[in-house]
Amino acid sequence: MAKIQMTTPLVEMDGDEMTRIIWQLIKDELISPFVDLKSEYYDLGLEHRDATNDQVTVDSAEATKKYGVAVKCATITPNAQRMTEYTLKEMWKSPNGTIRAILDGTVFRAPIIVKGIEPLVPGWTKPITIARHAYGDMYRNTELKIEPNTKVELVATDNNNNNVAKMLIHDFGDTAGIVQGIHNTDKSIGSFARSCFNYALDTKQDLWFATKDTISKTYDHRFKDIYEEIYESEYKSKFDGAGIEYFYTLIDDAVARVMRSDGGYIWACKNYDGDVMSDMVAAAFGSLGMMTSVLVSPDGAFEYEAAHGTVTRHYYKHLKGEETSTNSVATIFAWTGGLKKRGELDRLPELSAFAEKLEQATVDTIESGVMTGDLYSISSLGQKKKVNTQDFIKEIASRVKA
Ligand code: NAP
Ligand code: MG
Repeated sequence: MAKIQMTTPLVEMDGDEMTRIIWQLIKDELISPFVDLKSEYYDLGLEHRDATNDQVTVDSAEATKKYGVAVKCATITPNAQRMTEYTLKEMWKSPNGTIRAILDGTVFRAPIIVKGIEPLVPGWTKPITIARHAYGDMYRNTELKIEPNTKVELVATDNNNNNVAKMLIHDFGDTAGIVQGIHNTDKSIGSFARSCFNYALDTKQDLWFATKDTISKTYDHRFKDIYEEIYESEYKSKFDGAGIEYFYTLIDDAVARVMRSDGGYIWACKNYDGDVMSDMVAAAFGSLGMMTSVLVSPDGAFEYEAAHGTVTRHYYKHLKGEETSTNSVATIFAWTGGLKKRGELDRLPELSAFAEKLEQATVDTIESGVMTGDLYSISSLGQKKKVNTQDFIKEIASRVKA
């Protein structure tokens, strides 16, 4: 059979450890036999990041801006222990952080749902995608411990040293205490909103957004207003056309509604809400190996990846020659996400159809009872078999061929 042709390269960001091994297996067994893969390859493995003084990470992000679609393998974020393990020149920053900063993007995380892995919330029959605003608020704060008999004020000064605002935060009197200053910018909130509206249109799902604007009448209200303004002026007619809805409510009401819902929407969260809720939703849907992630920039570039890390514990076993059973599903779906998007942008329906087929073959494999250890331990299927990392991918390949 002739291989499916591509017209524009996919930006390929290779990575580290167990996921680097899975990456190669996926390419060899699941992609290359069927697609004449056109990719622009960037090696984000830690050794090559170190050799290029991390320039390769910046280059890969710039290429994503240029071509619009990237697929990324999980990568090590160095810490002190990695400095010695890899004899690094510097403690390079998190590649995901660098790429996110260059693309100014928002990260969307969604679970892959299969029969036999039931969510802990029985009503959640469709995925819930969490979009977390990754800028500002508590994550860029300034905070102080305050001694008794101290008055704390909020002061704003313009570039000409004029006080433009001064307000009392609290007069501490006879007790000590704490204060915190947080901020956000209209630009960052606007980018967040546009990324979310674009992704809702792209995936044809409703978008929910929530803050605590009744209590935070200026700060949180600004988020609500920016969303509303951008929605009304740029997206309302597109949402109407796509038959999807933008829904705003208070954060506590949103939490209650999410628990009662059957899923199938995007939940846009402020930074802290997203930090907390994404871990709750991920845990409720089962395994980290089944969670995908996509970074969407406000001008429409997409970078697909698995939500998990490089699975170091399994890699060390692999290095010792022991068998591993590492789940490759999220990494496979990163590839299919990228190929589908390339197919859509380049009007190559065959490429998109192939990606869909590969996703279906992956889901069918697990639903037929063949799975990796992480799923084996939680699957409710009566007939199930635990396979190793390689055999799981080979089983999917045989289904795609069939
Ligand atoms: P991790 O790689 O996500 O793995 C944590 C544990 O979760 C694993 O030991 C394993 O549990 C389970 N797990 C995760 N993915 C799995 C999969 N696909 N199949 C089966 N089990 C899976 O997190 P980590 O160990 O904290 O971090 C390892 C490295 O990854 C670090 O260097 C970190 O910097 C990096 N990291 C990268 C990214 C990214 O590139 N996006 C994200 C997070 C972390 P068991 O050991 O119980 O089997
Ligand atoms: Mg968290």
